[in-house]
This record gives sequence, C-alpha cells and structure tokens, in this order.
Amino acid sequence: MTAPHPAPVAAADPVSRRRTFAIISHPDAGKTTLTEKLLLFGGAIQLAGQVRAKGDRRQTRSDWMGIEKERGISVVTSVMTFEYGGHVFNLLDTPGHEDFSEDTYRTLTAVDAAVMVLDAAKGVEARTLKLVEVCRLRDIPIVTFVNKMDRETMDPFELLDDVEKALALDTTAKTWPIGRGRAFAGTYDLDTNTIRLKDAEESIPVSGPDDPRIAALLPPQDFAQFQDEVLLAQGASKPFLQQSFLEGHLTPVYFGSALKDMGVQDLIDALGRFAPSPREQHAATRVVEANEAKMAGFVFKIQANMDPNHRDRIAFMRVCSGRLTRGMRVKLVRTGKTIGLTAPQFFFAQDRTIADEAFAGDIVGIPNHGTLRIGDTLTEGEDLIFRGVPSFAPEILRRVRVADAMKAKKLKEALQQMAEEGVVQVFQPRDGTQPIVGVVGSLQLDVLKERMAGEYGLEITFEQTRFAVARWVTTDEPNKLEDFAKRDTSAMCSDLDGDPVYLATSVFSLKYEQERWQMLRFADVKDYQ
Ligand code: GDP
Repeated sequence: MTAPHPAPVAAADPVSRRRTFAIISHPDAGKTTLTEKLLLFGGAIQLAGQVRAKGDRRQTRSDWMGIEKERGISVVTSVMTFEYGGHVFNLLDTPGHEDFSEDTYRTLTAVDAAVMVLDAAKGVEARTLKLVEVCRLRDIPIVTFVNKMDRETMDPFELLDDVEKALALDTTAKTWPIGRGRAFAGTYDLDTNTIRLKDAEESIPVSGPDDPRIAALLPPQDFAQFQDEVLLAQGASKPFLQQSFLEGHLTPVYFGSALKDMGVQDLIDALGRFAPSPREQHAATRVVEANEAKMAGFVFKIQANMDPNHRDRIAFMRVCSGRLTRGMRVKLVRTGKTIGLTAPQFFFAQDRTIADEAFAGDIVGIPNHGTLRIGDTLTEGEDLIFRGVPSFAPEILRRVRVADAMKAKKLKEALQQMAEEGVVQVFQPRDGTQPIVGVVGSLQLDVLKERMAGEYGLEITFEQTRFAVARWVTTDEPNKLEDFAKRDTSAMCSDLDGDPVYLATSVFSLKYEQERWQMLRFADVKDYQ
C-alpha cells in the first residue's frame, strides 16, 4: 500500500502559491454548485449559497443588469479569491449563457488552468466541446470533475471514453466512485488506496479495493462491481504524466457530487498539486516569466457601473509578472501614457477591497473613466504587448438606429464605449452610414439596448442588414485592399481600432471574393496586438 498524499505544503513565494483557473461546463452540469463548494474550502463559508443569489443582489447594485434577473442568467464575469492548503486560488467565473461566449473566451485568456465539469449522466455536451476548443488554443491544462455521481450515471469507463473520443484528450482516472446513484458512498483514490466519504473529512487508508470497510458501504453486487472496476481502472488507465497534462493533452479525472459534498476535496487538492502556478505569458516581442521583477499585466475584461453610486468602470487586469503595489505608476503601452494605480481592487465574490499588493496570477480591478480597453497592456518596465485576447467574428449583424437624428454623434460615442468594453463589436461603414453592431448571441443586443437607454438616454432600434458575415481583412498589398474597398464602400468598415473589416452577404459570396482577391486574407479571429 502506498502512503496517503502528504498535506500540501505552502510554497514560500507568493507566485508559486497561486492557482488561477476557471470552470468550464455545459449549462446545468453543476458549475454554480461546485463554485459554492470550492469557496467553502477557502473558509469563505459566509459566501456559500450566495453565488446562486447573485442575480438578485446585482440587481440592487447595478441598474442595467435587470436583464440578468429577468432571465435568470449571469452576464458578468467575477473573480473569487480564496486560500486553501497553502495555495491562493483565483477562480474566474464566466457567464453561463452561450450568447456571452466572447466574454468566456476572453476570461480563458487570463487563467492558467480549467476545471471541466461534466454531468455524469450526459458526458461531453455541446458547450463543453466548444470551451475545450478554446482552452486548446492556449494549451490550458484541464482537470475533469464528473459531477452528479449521486444520480443515474453513465458507466464511468464510458465517460472516460467519451472525453477521449469527443475531446481528443487522454484521461487518467485519479479517483473512482464507490457505488453510484443512490449507492454513491464516496471516492477511492487510485494512487494512494485511500477512501474519502465526504468532503472535509479525513481520507481513510484502506488495504485495497477489497477492503471490508468498502464492503460495508455498498450492497454486495455493487461492491463486486466496484472491485472489478478499480482493478480495471488501475490496470488500463494511462499513467498520469504531468507534462502531458500541462500541455493540455491529458486530463486527470475526478468523480463526485458537488451537491452532496463528495469528491470536491479531491478536486481542489488536485488543483493545488497538479495545476500550474502562474504561467509565462506571450508578448509580441518575447515571453514574460511570472517571476520577473517588473510588473506587467493585460486587461481582459471591462465592467461598467458595477456600483451605481460610483458610475465607475472597472478594468480587470491579469497580473503577468512582478509585484503590483497600490499607488504605483505604470505605462499604458497603447497610448504611451503613464497612469497611477491609486485604487486597485481585489474581488471576493460580491465584495471588493483595495489591493495593497498583487502578484502574477492575480486579477485586479482598476477603476477608470474610459482610459483602459480590452487587450491593453500595463507595464512598469519595457513596452510589452501581450497576445491572446482575441476578437471573434460576430454571427449577427444589425444596423443601429436612434430615434432622434440629432443624437447621431452621441450614438457613435456610446457605441464606441460599448465596443471598448466588449459588449458588442462596432463596425463603421466607409460610406458614412449608421454603424453596424456585431454580436455572437442576440442577448448581447438586449444588453446593449438596455444600457444605451439607461446610461446614455438613447432609445435605439436594430435593423436587419443585408450582411451575414464579417471578416477582418489583411494584406501585404495595401493598394489592392484599397481597390477592393472602393468597389463597395457600404460593405467595407472599420472596427474599433480602425482595422478594415469586410461584410459579406453570405458565406458563399465571401468565398467568391476570396477566390477573386487572393492577395487578401479574410480572418474570422482577430488577436489584439
Ligand atoms: P450550472 O448551470 O452548471 O451552474 O449548474 P448548477 O450548479 O446551477 O446545477 C444545476 C442543477 O443541478 C441544480 O438543480 C443543482 O442543484 C443540481 N446539481 C448540481 N450538482 C449536483 C450533484 O452533484 N448532484 C445532484 N443530484 N444534483 C446536482
């Protein structure tokens, strides 16, 4: 018998202690429930149960989020920081609704690892697939949590197989469920031969899968099945290779029930043990290591009016290196201007506090009045531009009209702000007609309409356009791009940064143009550079 895992030892330096991660899942798999339970481990006990209530409370904090309450969805990304087992965990929450997937993708650029939650009865679902694809773009290591083992489930081997086939990810089962459905009694650690019946209880060393203490937990038939499965899992499972995991090729799998407080501790222990501490980040000129002395970070999210009393705008920045201190002066690389971080903030679920210092892996909120945009880099040292907060080509394009023609200028300004916050994308046609907004999901349009009315007093309507597809156009032959643009100035637009975007009426017509204009590149993803 191998010895139980030693208790996690607190790493000496603040960077190695940090684990910055997000939870990815298909709606209903149990992300919210798991989040609550993870927070419990961080001693954030008063917060458990509050995650779910967030719709209500945010309503009082922010007038435009009525939409969230009305539809019972979460639009906002928030950050939850908690300590457990010597580690500091930064859990970045993401909107559950797929209409806000852009927000989720941007959030995934700021994490070092992801927990993939699967519903044990359903396995890999549509949104799981999409989100894993995004993780793969950045080689984000994934830890798998198979939730709802207390209910009717698929066969655990089938679940592993599903992950392997549907996601092309190797799996290593790290625990095995002791019974399932109503008989689910706890988890068996396949590495250490220990069992745990409930989270926060000590794990119990056993002699092996045939230990009488396990027999006592299960009906005889289930016990026989359990023994067979463990032997098979131990024999057939791929070895867990840390490097493969870190490269995003292999996922360790944990079974549990967030609702019943089972298996969550195995998961959080695994995050501490296997998930990477803040990873190096790629800037345009070089790779920036987390332990470099100079502070550098990038903005991946802007949130306006979190607090109606302050009408503020918070930029969420991931610290990539160095130490951020309150009051320090940093350079906003896009404009070359220096700004003072006079009141950086930490978020603690619903609460925020002033951050006196922060380290690589931390997320700080920077209040500002429109100075900062998504994709911005702030540095203490040399000019750096971090890569990896992409824009995705929108799938719905609508022209925005404002009832009062006198307000056209105000409309433009307001739309620019919304675009800087990443609420929608805005494309200005070259022919000078009203701007076109692009979104991935139609709920984004509802949010835009509500915010334009609430914050800018603009009553807007959306009109269909003849366009169905947007693509960023780049070329090594700028005069050819000009020729192309001149042919139809209503289809040629500028995005927020002034970069050219071509709108096509269909995928078919886009293809047609692509064939005729081979010196132009039509991209459906734009990286902020
Ligand atoms: P989300 O949409 O992924 O955030 O999922 P929720 O955490 O809101 O969970 C969806 C539903 O599944 C809720 O009714 C939860 O109570 C239920 N649920 C979550 N985890 C478990 C679990 O481990 N077992 C069971 N039986 N139900 C669960």
